[in-house]
Amino acid sequence: MALAYPRVLLKLSGEALAGERGFGLDFSVVGRLTEEIKQVHALGASLGIVLGGGNILRGTKASEEGMDRVSADYMGMLATVINALAVQDILERTGVETRVMSAIRMEELAEPYIRRRAQRHLEKGRVVLFAGGTGNPYFSTDTAAVLRALEIEASLLIKATSVDGVYTADPKVDPKAEFLPELSFQDAIVRGLRVMDANAFGLCKENALPIVVMNVNQSGAVARVVQGERVGTLVQ
Ligand code: UDP
Repeated sequence: MALAYPRVLLKLSGEALAGERGFGLDFSVVGRLTEEIKQVHALGASLGIVLGGGNILRGTKASEEGMDRVSADYMGMLATVINALAVQDILERTGVETRVMSAIRMEELAEPYIRRRAQRHLEKGRVVLFAGGTGNPYFSTDTAAVLRALEIEASLLIKATSVDGVYTADPKVDPKAEFLPELSFQDAIVRGLRVMDANAFGLCKENALPIVVMNVNQSGAVARVVQGERVGTLVQ
């Protein structure tokens, strides 16, 4: 069966790797997530993953607490490398070939990010884990996700979160929050719905890159998205 989205970019936030504890890495949670990734890979989809780092350090928060913002952001970018290595280790143990490519050079651990090389890995069926964000302070890994999605010519960006999709309000706070199965970029802006940070969202809109916001805790959901099933919220 032909896949609806043969090449996708999955954005995995740091939070998704921390599980219930909300901080650091919960290896049983990482193990479960890698099963989801393995399923997508087994379908024959070409898959790039951008890792967040918020489970270890967020630049804005650290700078509010007194750190220099630029140093804090570099620390945040290093956190994404830690996450990428964790996901790589578990994926490789389950038999999926991977490469970590970092926007910040650290050749003992990861390949430097080179677009053409990333594409070659994807063509060979390797899962490419993009670490180090964009490599620049003052950006987020959401922006890195859009950037890499465009660079590898993915036809969809999947934002894996711990909620089912986009709601009219935060469902964890407001019980009357309404789930939105589909919306346009313009709708999201006019209604002030936060899908990702404004920079990242603007870049997506400008380049008409569709986004699916979905709950990564639903078993098999990422694979269903890739096959064209409606899961979560589609923004296009
Ligand atoms: N970061 C950065 N530039 C980037 C990507 C990330 O400076 O291109 C830093 C920033 O400090 C951010 C931290 O890395 O707070 C972790 O990334 P993010 O908060 O996007 O992770 P997530 O929320 O997805 O876990």
